[in-house]
Amino acid sequence: MKDRSLLMIPGPIEFEPEVLQALGAPTTSHVAPNFIEAFGRALEAMRKIWLAPEGQPFVVAGSGTLAMELAGANLVEPGDRALVLSTGVFGDRFEDLLSRHGADVTVLRAPIGQTLDLSQVEDDLRSGVYKILTVTHVDTSTAVRMPIREIGELARRYNVLSIVDGVCSVAGEEIWQDEWNLDVVLTASQKAIGVPPGLALLVASQRAMAAFASRETPVRSYYADWAKWLPIMQAYEARKPSYFGTPAVNLVAALDVSLRQIVDEGMTARFARHEQLAGAFRAGAVALGMNFVATEPQHRANTLTACRYPNGVAAGDLLPAIKQAGVIVAGGLHPEIKSEYFRVGHMGAVSMGDILAALGAIEIGLRHAGHVCEPGIGVAAALQWHAAHGI
Ligand SMILES: *Cc1c(COP(=O)(O)O)cnc(C)c1O
Repeated sequence: MKDRSLLMIPGPIEFEPEVLQALGAPTTSHVAPNFIEAFGRALEAMRKIWLAPEGQPFVVAGSGTLAMELAGANLVEPGDRALVLSTGVFGDRFEDLLSRHGADVTVLRAPIGQTLDLSQVEDDLRSGVYKILTVTHVDTSTAVRMPIREIGELARRYNVLSIVDGVCSVAGEEIWQDEWNLDVVLTASQKAIGVPPGLALLVASQRAMAAFASRETPVRSYYADWAKWLPIMQAYEARKPSYFGTPAVNLVAALDVSLRQIVDEGMTARFARHEQLAGAFRAGAVALGMNFVATEPQHRANTLTACRYPNGVAAGDLLPAIKQAGVIVAGGLHPEIKSEYFRVGHMGAVSMGDILAALGAIEIGLRHAGHVCEPGIGVAAALQWHAAHGI
């Protein structure tokens, strides 16, 4: 049997061979002309992918949490009021993070599996005390997707800076950063961007850059300070060498390739593909007798699905059996319901074939775990969905 499985977790995902080839190419100097060109192209491509023609892109070595920290460290000054909209574990992470940078944080926490009521968000914003709000577009612990377009509008109306954690959404879920008035949209390389882990990515609006420029106190993090990185990003985009901290040369080369593939697919087509494949996966999951953590259909993410175990099925029986059948899925993450569900990532270079393979392996796993279902019923439902909505 081949020693290879299909990785269907919410990051790292399966990567395109061309991306991995770029990663494995001989490392050049960070001031070599080819590298300067690749970095400059990648920065330009980010504006197209974020749909933020006026935005300022940043690429810094680190994980998605560093992207969160870049946003928080640069936009928060001690004593600033921040509103954190939390739909799970990653929303909660912002509470601690922003507090470390001196913010006075208020958290609005949705019941598990639900979104926040926008009128409640508006009531809070109306108080006029907040400088920034954070929202997790897709919280990877619940697979709940927040309506960030509406939240961007509210933030703009009440003159609050909006930070969107798009680690599990950028390049998968629909985002129009400029049109939707979003001030920072951040992500990491290993999710729908399609590059191995190691790069923190974000695009900041001109409004966010102006708020940063008018700070009265220095940024409390040395490595995360935009004042250090902005000249670097500007230099590479102008195709000039520059140095603050050594860029992750191979990862940036891989990023250049992956972003070009994303731009070539086209954002509208890419959003539609994610929506179609998520729909096909969920149709299959329902046919296999599963329900979802995200309670409302219109708030279920297109980048991953959080499936509740059918009655009587134990995580310890199901997940190893799915793996045995050749597909790797992820366990539960939210501490309060961790043992009640598992997660399947379907973002980036995912295809209908991957969806069918995942559903087939899940069916085999369910049978192994004692759950009765008609052979092929999940795959059939996904194919029916596909035929009806055809990509
Ligand atoms: C994965 C993820 C993060 C954290 O990213 P790391 O690369 O693990 O630091 C933050 N937010 C969301 C929504 C995520 O999915």
